Amino acid sequence: MEIPKQIEEVLEKLEKAGFEAYIVGGCVRDEIMGKTAHDYDITTSAEPRETERVFSDCRVVETGIKHGTVVVLFKGMSVEITTFRIDGDYPDGRHPERVSFSRNLKDDLARRDFTMNAIAYSPKRGIIDIFDGKADINAKIIRCVGEPEKRFSEDALRVMRALRFSAVLGFDIEENTKSALLLKKENLKNVSKERIFSELKQLLCGENVKKVLLEYREVFAEIIPEIREMFDYDQNSKYHNSTLFEHTARAVEAAPPKEEMRLAMLFHDIGKPACRTIDENGEGHYYGHAAKSVEIADRILRELKCDNMLRVRVCEIIRYHDMPIELSGKAIKRRLSKLGEELFCEVMEAHIADDSAKQEFTKARVETAREAMRIAREIAREKPCLDLKGLAVNGGDLKEMMEPSPKMGEILGVLLSEVVDGTLENEKSALLARVRELLR
Ligand code: ATP
Ligand code: MG
Repeated sequence: MEIPKQIEEVLEKLEKAGFEAYIVGGCVRDEIMGKTAHDYDITTSAEPRETERVFSDCRVVETGIKHGTVVVLFKGMSVEITTFRIDGDYPDGRHPERVSFSRNLKDDLARRDFTMNAIAYSPKRGIIDIFDGKADINAKIIRCVGEPEKRFSEDALRVMRALRFSAVLGFDIEENTKSALLLKKENLKNVSKERIFSELKQLLCGENVKKVLLEYREVFAEIIPEIREMFDYDQNSKYHNSTLFEHTARAVEAAPPKEEMRLAMLFHDIGKPACRTIDENGEGHYYGHAAKSVEIADRILRELKCDNMLRVRVCEIIRYHDMPIELSGKAIKRRLSKLGEELFCEVMEAHIADDSAKQEFTKARVETAREAMRIAREIAREKPCLDLKGLAVNGGDLKEMMEPSPKMGEILGVLLSEVVDGTLENEKSALLARVRELLR
């Protein structure tokens, strides 16, 4: 197994001092799957004070010391080293009552969530895989270490972790593990919203998110009760060939794997049931659903303790997800002036994801959105004036001609829209002449 030099040296130093030390968890799983790990966790028989002594010539951060973790800054790398641990009972389904340290690796592996995450490795001692994690990785199976019901009762976050790993890695969840997590999903109410949301964001960005959303929809309804309305909802529309929730799941997976895009697609149509009208032909229409979806998504995201920047971004994408697209340069420039380049392109990405999750014939519209994005990028490359900051005059220049008042803002707005449309040159004397005209 290829591991970074510094990590190897850390393991060696602990071993030389008479302790056992291994890399463990996600990094071993990733290595076995042939992927480069993004961080390396070390587990050791040394207790935190002993680890500190071994690394007395390094900077050591003690933040997690109660749980046995010290962070060592070793040759430019920050390395987390945790003592073999036994987690006591979890009376609140969240935190172990107490953790105790152990000198036995097996105890530490037994407290871990899934077999694929319970493998230890060291260059000196090789792979230690007492729960057959490697076989499960090769078979692409997520399986609890030990008795599934007990493990999900201890810590319900594991329910979300199982789904997250399934969506990200494309692994299936083993039958007993699956039925236990469905049974214990209510315990998610004991888990902090922040931790749930962090898992949800990663899950949504997974390559296999559609399958997980559909197969485990009851778990999602547990953390977001509002989505239940989309289950089995027939849209009664010639554009759609699946239920609202199936369409949603397809649209999520069709969007680029960025948090704001995937969240936006999850909620883009959630306002539809509240907006339905049926025409004389029995066809369903959903006028105003984007605004309704924004309202619901905003409430859900606040409830999930989503940070404000992300929440606002998601809501903006939803707000414009079904705006009409006009391909003329002038129309796109107006949109760019209103939304900015980045949001405009994300709105186009939302159109593409939405349309590719409908009937075959709506897929032609995907090309329109792609073309709009291409035109927008081309326009933006030339850095035209698209907002008030880009105008060659500002409020200060206008002060000599008029009192500061709301009228001044209006006039600047007129200048901007005429410059954006190309009917007025963005040049100071031309702009001031136009102001004089407007004031007459
Ligand atoms: P990632 O690639 O997301 O970092 P990971 O498996 O490394 O995946 P972490 O959250 O970094 O996940 O946790 C590191 C290890 O700690 C896991 O591999 C697992 O062994 C253990 N672990 C983490 N969270 C839990 C939990 N809630 N219950 C039991 N074991 C856990
Ligand atoms: Mg990790």
